[in-house]
Amino acid sequence: MSLLTVIVPCYNEEENVPLFYEELMKNEPFLAEKGMELELLYVDDGSTDKTVPEIKKLRERDPRVHLVSFSRNFGKEAAIYAGLENSRGDYVVMMDVDLQDPPSLLPEMFSYIQEGYDSVATRRVSRKGEPPIRSFFARMFYRLMKKISKTEIMDGARDYRLMTRQMADAILSMPEYNRFTKGIFGWVGFKTKWIEYENVERARGETKWSFWKLFLYSLDGICAFSTAPLMLASVMGVFFCVVAFLMIVFIIVRKMIFGDPVSGWPSLVCIILMTSGVQFFCTGIVGQYLAKTYMEVKRRPIYLIRESF
Ligand code: UDP
Ligand code: MG
Repeated sequence: MSLLTVIVPCYNEEENVPLFYEELMKNEPFLAEKGMELELLYVDDGSTDKTVPEIKKLRERDPRVHLVSFSRNFGKEAAIYAGLENSRGDYVVMMDVDLQDPPSLLPEMFSYIQEGYDSVATRRVSRKGEPPIRSFFARMFYRLMKKISKTEIMDGARDYRLMTRQMADAILSMPEYNRFTKGIFGWVGFKTKWIEYENVERARGETKWSFWKLFLYSLDGICAFSTAPLMLASVMGVFFCVVAFLMIVFIIVRKMIFGDPVSGWPSLVCIILMTSGVQFFCTGIVGQYLAKTYMEVKRRPIYLIRESF
């Protein structure tokens, strides 16, 4: 038998913890048929509700339930990293506790691993039940990423992914602080099979992602997997030089033909405002990368454990 570690990040999910356990265990017989034993690793991301006591209750019933509990909220990316680091399985799979990643797909996913794939990833083909503007911006983000990043980042990709120990170790070898998991999965490569499914709405509770949080997260993703925005300053610089040169030629020629040197200070103001705006914007982009670099060189731990079993 080989061991499969199911990594489940939880942040204030007291209602979903037992629900998830039940749903997952329904699939246990099908996995056992394929020679797979289960181990469940809940990663508590600094929950302030009864998430940890709920996990402890499960542990009393079932010794295959494990917990890594953080000292505070470090974010889902950190939880995934901690899960990988503390997993013992020959295979690992990351799943959301809100049942948006259906455990019923597991046996099918595992059969692809047996066919020789290193990882089986999932993407949702619909975004049913999500606010339309959110879907719109999500699509825009993936389109932009496709253009400016060499790393493959799939539209609608979930973090729900089954992988071999080898790939898990590859991910662990990337101890960067600014973690954009979807990009990291793509970056490490390996043979990946994509499975598609319809969006499922979360079982209980509310999403932890506001629009603003998602927006900032997308900027993190861009910073982590592309340096294209840094080029913008150079491109704009060249563009404005060319425009300035053309205008100088135009003004000299006009002066020689019509003799009209001073007029048009409103246009001058517009030009100054525009160029200084562009300069601030570009400085801001450089600042973003500098800030990320600053956080990275501090070499702070990605997470801190308060309790584990
Ligand atoms: N999560 C986490 N830390 C956080 C936010 C979320 O571990 O700071 C977990 C959460 O408990 C859930 C998963 O990440 O298991 C996905 O979160 P959510 O359902 O809120 O995101 P969505 O599905 O709406 O993208
Ligand atoms: Mg969810």
